Amino acid sequence: MNHNTGAILVLSGPSGAGKSTILKEIIDDIGECHFSISTTTRSIRTGEVDGVDYHFVTKEEFKKDIEDDMFLEYANVHGNYYGTSIRPVKQALKDAKLVIFDIDVQGNTVVTNRLGDITTSVFISPPTLSALKERLQGRKTDTQEVINGRLEMAKREIQRISEYDYLIINDDLEEAAGILKTIAKAARLKIPGNEINEFTQKWEDID
Ligand code: ADP
Ligand code: 5GP
Repeated sequence: MNHNTGAILVLSGPSGAGKSTILKEIIDDIGECHFSISTTTRSIRTGEVDGVDYHFVTKEEFKKDIEDDMFLEYANVHGNYYGTSIRPVKQALKDAKLVIFDIDVQGNTVVTNRLGDITTSVFISPPTLSALKERLQGRKTDTQEVINGRLEMAKREIQRISEYDYLIINDDLEEAAGILKTIAKAARLKIPGNEINEFTQKWEDID
C-alpha cells in the first residue's frame, strides 16, 4: 500500500534560467500533475496566452483578490505582482496530483512555511551570470532595461539557494531535465505527518 495524497513541487530560479523549458521536457513523464497558473499584473509577452501562461489582471483586480484572501501566497517581483490562487491548488491536492509551482524565493518561503510537509523545493540556476544574460537576450521577450533588472535580481536570488532542497544547474538541458524528473517522482512519495501517524497505528495489528 502506498499513500496517495497530493504533493507540491516548487521550482524557483532567475527568470531565464530555463524553468519552463525543463518542465516542458518532462511534463508528460511524471504522472498526474497540475501546473499552478499564477496571476500577475505584468504585461503579456509575445507568444504568451492569457489563462495558459498566467492569468493577466490589472493592479486593482489583483488587490481585490488579496483583500478576498484568494492567494496561498503572493509577492512583488521586478515591480509586478504575482500570486498563487489557493482554490485550484486545494482541488488538485484533493485529487492526489503533484502540484507544480513556478514561483520566486519569497513565494517558496511562504509555501514551505504553510505546507512544508508535502513540499519539495528545487532551485534551477543557469551555470553563470553571463549564460543567464545570453539566454535572456536570446529569448527576445524583454528590453535591455528589463534584462538588466532581471540580472540584478538574479544576483540576489542566488544568495538564497540554501533555502531549497535541491539545486539543478541547467547547463546541459537533457541532463537537467533528467534530474528534475527524478526529483518530481520522489516529491510524490513525501509522506505528510498525519499519514505517518495513521500508518503506524494501523501497522500495529497484533494485540
Ligand atoms: P524561465 O522559465 O526560467 O524564465 P525559459 O525556460 O524561458 O526560462 O528559458 C530562457 C531561455 O533559455 C529560452 O530561450 C530557452 O530556450 C533557453 N534555455 C533553456 N535551457 C537552456 C540550456 N540548457 N541551454 C541553453 N539555452 C537554454
Ligand atoms: P516572469 O515574469 O519571468 O514570468 O516571472 C518572474 C518571476 O516571478 C519568476 O521568478 C517566477 O518564478 C516568479 N513568479 C511567477 N509566478 C509567481 C507566483 O505566483 N508567486 C511568486 N511568489 N512568484 C511568482
